[in-house]
Amino acid sequence: VPEGSRAEWLARALGRAGVLPRSEAERAIQDGRVEVDGRVERDPFAPVHAASAVRLDGRPCALESRVLAVMFHKPAGVVVHGSDPEGMGTVFERLRDVLSPELRGYEWYAVGRLDRDTTGLLLFTNEERLVAHATSPGTHLSKRYVAGVEGFPSEAALQRLREGLVLEDGPTRPAEARLRGPRCVELVLTEGRHHQVKRMLAAVGHPVHTLHREAVGAVSLDVPEGSWRRLTDAEVEQGL
Ligand code: URA
Repeated sequence: VPEGSRAEWLARALGRAGVLPRSEAERAIQDGRVEVDGRVERDPFAPVHAASAVRLDGRPCALESRVLAVMFHKPAGVVVHGSDPEGMGTVFERLRDVLSPELRGYEWYAVGRLDRDTTGLLLFTNEERLVAHATSPGTHLSKRYVAGVEGFPSEAALQRLREGLVLEDGPTRPAEARLRGPRCVELVLTEGRHHQVKRMLAAVGHPVHTLHREAVGAVSLDVPEGSWRRLTDAEVEQGL
């Protein structure tokens, strides 16, 4: 968002300020509903600054940006992709269905991904830079998973998970692994490669039947399935 005198595209600035999601903002601009400094602006890519006077349908819009984050308890069957025409829908649709009205205008980005059948903690933010930071391979944000597996994992199998093992895309970083039940493994990873938990457990002879994420960084899931809550500023600072 317009920080100081840095220019930003009009549609993006409206999205970041929570006035309208970016795609809707583009339409509103093209439809002539948006004025900048007293003139109708039909170009979604027109630059605006913090000091620009922007109006939507004649009403002034505050363009200051706020970094927001929410947790969402992802149900099974829902994809973390832009579209899912055949299935049970996307997490973005689910989140928008339940979010409070004042948060619906923001553009929400998922922090990382979960497989369709994985349940649990998924973080969303309106700040793309936070996503880039949290998911960058150098950040080593911890993620705690609980997996229901086939068979009864031995101490030796857990030790292999802890020390790291070699997958097709290279060795895994040291992890925490312990039993939560005879067929239930808690795994804490500090990386997030595609299907990593399933691939690690399969590699030690225990294919995953169910997978749930309980925590990311300092943030622990504490809302029921399909529900969400705002993260506190402290959680955003420590957790991401
Ligand atoms: N690892 C997996 O295999 N799947 C997920 O959804 C998350 C981590």
